[in-house]
Amino acid sequence: MSMKKPRSASWMIPNNVAKKPKKTRVAFRKNRGSRARQQNLTHHVLDNQDLAADLKNDERLSGKGEISRHRTIVSADESSTNEVQAAELNGLSAGRVLRSIGANQCQVEVSVGRVLTCSVRRLIRTMARDGRNATVAGDRVFVRPTSPSEGVIERVEPRSGTVSRGSGRFEHIIVANVDQAVIVASAADPDFKPGLVDRFLVSAAKGGVEPILCVNKADLIDTASLQPLLGVYARMGYAVVVTSTKTGQGIEQLRDLLRGRESVLTGQSGVGKSTLINAIDSRLNLKTAEVSDDSGKGRHTTRVAELLPLAGGGWIVDTPGIRQLEIWDVLPEEVEGYFRDFVPFVANCRFPDCTHTHEDQCGVKSAVASRLISPTRYQGYLRIVIADDQNWRSHAMTH
Ligand code: GDP
Ligand code: ZN
Repeated sequence: MSMKKPRSASWMIPNNVAKKPKKTRVAFRKNRGSRARQQNLTHHVLDNQDLAADLKNDERLSGKGEISRHRTIVSADESSTNEVQAAELNGLSAGRVLRSIGANQCQVEVSVGRVLTCSVRRLIRTMARDGRNATVAGDRVFVRPTSPSEGVIERVEPRSGTVSRGSGRFEHIIVANVDQAVIVASAADPDFKPGLVDRFLVSAAKGGVEPILCVNKADLIDTASLQPLLGVYARMGYAVVVTSTKTGQGIEQLRDLLRGRESVLTGQSGVGKSTLINAIDSRLNLKTAEVSDDSGKGRHTTRVAELLPLAGGGWIVDTPGIRQLEIWDVLPEEVEGYFRDFVPFVANCRFPDCTHTHEDQCGVKSAVASRLISPTRYQGYLRIVIADDQNWRSHAMTH
């Protein structure tokens, strides 16, 4: 197994450019959505007192102080003084990237309802690790307006809460600065795939985003058959919601889970993400694909990730469908840490570096044997570590 250290999170300003980044406290406009705590959050969780308590805690911890009127800005320019920076920042407008347009342009909301089409300053483009993603939806930026409808992005704040997918050897960040990821699966058409859900859960954990599991198209099957599996996820402390855009089941629950939060909808193409967004807030009126007569599968129409303001406060991001999710930069030995249900049993492994695959006296395997860990989850784990171990090996050989 590779000993290579994981690369650090993607920052717009790499350390070799800004030897010692300067931090400046500046006023920053309040986030648009209300961050009021959801009093009724626990109402939507399966009947489980412990789980409800956990979620309350999560909710409290995830406040993160987004309503702060001040933010710390990390500057790449070592030579300029704080005063110069502050003056410079005075001429700039703080904004939020709503969507990218091509490689170097994006739409930035600088005040409620005022959107500028912005280009990205060349220096920032050059510093971006992934040239295609100088800015992504959700980035917090500083813009110098150049006309009533246009501007230039001068600074990009460090990202937190990112959702990414692998793209060859390069991470492709789809969206930044989100609180939660709604992992959408469908009960049928396409079939519910636990292995894919597990991969999305690892990705969310790695990106620092709280996952919610949404199983859509509940009208197509008797969802009682899914309950044992969904119970596995609920017992791990994940919010689980079963929805149908046809019957309206679960839509109100989902709406409540999204209100006042910044959420990304992620999941395989055709599971109903765009239709769900329309059901949650019809003003958003996304184009969704109709089932094509030939294939019986929904065609994918959403091309770029886009931040959409919700009527009740908060933002939602629609992402391009992700069929094959590569987990970026997660080493095989890190994966167990993202499997919450494994954590209590890892201490029982004989070998401290146990991979829970071939080893004897493995606490995880014993827990699977006695059904304390779901065999489906263990299968999901094996798929990830075995595939990823092969990726790392081939990577080590060619570099
Ligand atoms: P996306 O690729 O995840 O955005 O999926 P879409 O929103 O485009 O939906 C794919 C197909 O599934 C479309 O034909 C929708 O009409 C259909 N669909 C969405 N939600 C449901 C649902 O709850 N039940 C059923 N039966 N079909 C749905
Ligand atoms: Zn083990």
